[in-house]
Amino acid sequence: MAGGGGVEEVTNKQVLFKEYVSGFPKESDMHVSTSGTIKLKVPEGSNAILVKNLYLSCDPYMRPRMKQPTPGSQAYVDSFKPGSPIVGYGVAKVLDSGHPDFKKGDLIWGMTGWEEYSLITTTQGLFKIHHTDVPLSYYTGLLGMPGTTAYIGFYEICSPKKGEHVFISAASGAVGQLVGQFAKLSGCHVIGSAGSKEKVDLLKNKFGFDEAFNYKEEPDLAAALKRYFPEGIDIYFDNVGGKMLDAVLLNMRVHGRIAECGMISQYNLEQPEGVYNLMSVVWKQIRMEGFLVFEYYHLYPKFLEFVLPHIKEGKITYVEDIAEGLESAPAALIGLFTGRNVGKQVVVVARE
Ligand code: NAP
Repeated sequence: MAGGGGVEEVTNKQVLFKEYVSGFPKESDMHVSTSGTIKLKVPEGSNAILVKNLYLSCDPYMRPRMKQPTPGSQAYVDSFKPGSPIVGYGVAKVLDSGHPDFKKGDLIWGMTGWEEYSLITTTQGLFKIHHTDVPLSYYTGLLGMPGTTAYIGFYEICSPKKGEHVFISAASGAVGQLVGQFAKLSGCHVIGSAGSKEKVDLLKNKFGFDEAFNYKEEPDLAAALKRYFPEGIDIYFDNVGGKMLDAVLLNMRVHGRIAECGMISQYNLEQPEGVYNLMSVVWKQIRMEGFLVFEYYHLYPKFLEFVLPHIKEGKITYVEDIAEGLESAPAALIGLFTGRNVGKQVVVVARE
C-alpha cells in the first residue's frame, strides 16, 4: 500500500510487551498485534536504518528485562517498555538506510525489535554479516552473542589447559553446547548436565562430551559430581547458579576456575537462593569471575577467525530449536525457563 509522499506503508506484525512480570513469565505477558503499520523508508535526514527482521533470538537475559525497574538499582540491562515491542538480538536485512555505514541489501545482526520491520535508530552495536556461506540463523547463536559468550567465557575467563576436567551446566543450550566443544578442542575432559534424557544423549552423541547427566534425576548433586569427577573439577562454566553452584564448590580442585556466565535458576525467583559453600573459594584458591559478553565485542573478529574454519571443517556442530513465526515467539521465549528448548532457541520471522 502506498502512503503519503509515495512511500510504501505496510502492516507490521509485532510482539508487544504487556506489563512488568514477577515470578515465572507467561505467554500472556506478551501480545501479538497485527494492527501496526510502518513506512518502508527512513525518515528524511535521519541516520537510522530500516530493516526486515529475519531471525530473532530468545535469550535468558530477556527475563531480567521484564522486571519493573527499581530506582537506584544497577541493572545491567534496561527493562522492556510496556506497550512496546520486545527488543532482542536478531538477524535482519537492510531495506533503507540513512547511515553511511549501511546500505540497502546489507545483512546485520544485533539489537532489533520483535516485529516484521524495525526502524533502528541506534546502530552502534550492530554487526555487518560478511560470511553468508553458513546458515544466517547462526548469527543469533553460534556466530552471534551466545557463541561469543562461549568463546570469551571459556578462553578468556577459564584459562584452560590440556587434560583439565571441565564441567558445564545447561550444557545443551546455546552457550553450553559450544563451551563443551571448545573444551574438547582444547584437549579437556568434559562433562555436562542438562534437564532431559534427550539433551543428555545430544551431549554425548552429537557434541562429543565425555559424559553427561540429567541433574533432575540426581537427588544429591554434590554426590553426583563426586561420581563424575572423582579427582575434582578444574573448570566450571556456570550457566545456572543456585544449588548446582553450591554442589560444584564442594567438588572444585585447588586453583580451579569458575566462569560466572549466568544463573538462570535464579531469574524467576523473587528472593535469590543462598550459596553456602563459598569458603571453598578461599581454601581451594579458586578464581571465580563474572563477565558480560558485550564488554568483549572488540574480540568478535578474532572469534570469527577461530570458529569459521572449525565450522567449515565440521569440527564444530550446532543444534537450533526453530520456532516458526512471530506468533510462536512468546511461547519460545518462556520455554527457556522450563527447558523446553533443545539447543539454541530461534524464531523465524522471514527467511529472506
Ligand atoms: P539455553 O541454555 O539455550 O536455554 C536455557 C536453558 O537453561 C534451558 O533450556 C534449561 O535447560 C536451563 N534451565 C532453565 N531453567 C533452569 C533452572 N531453574 N535450573 C537449571 N537449568 C535451567 O540458554 P543460553 O542462551 O545458552 O544461556 C545460558 C546461560 O548463559 C544463561 O544463564 C544466560 O543468562 C547466560 N548468558 C550470559 C551471557 C553473558 O554475557 N554473561 C551471555 C549469554 C548468555 P535444561 O533442560 O538443561 O534445564
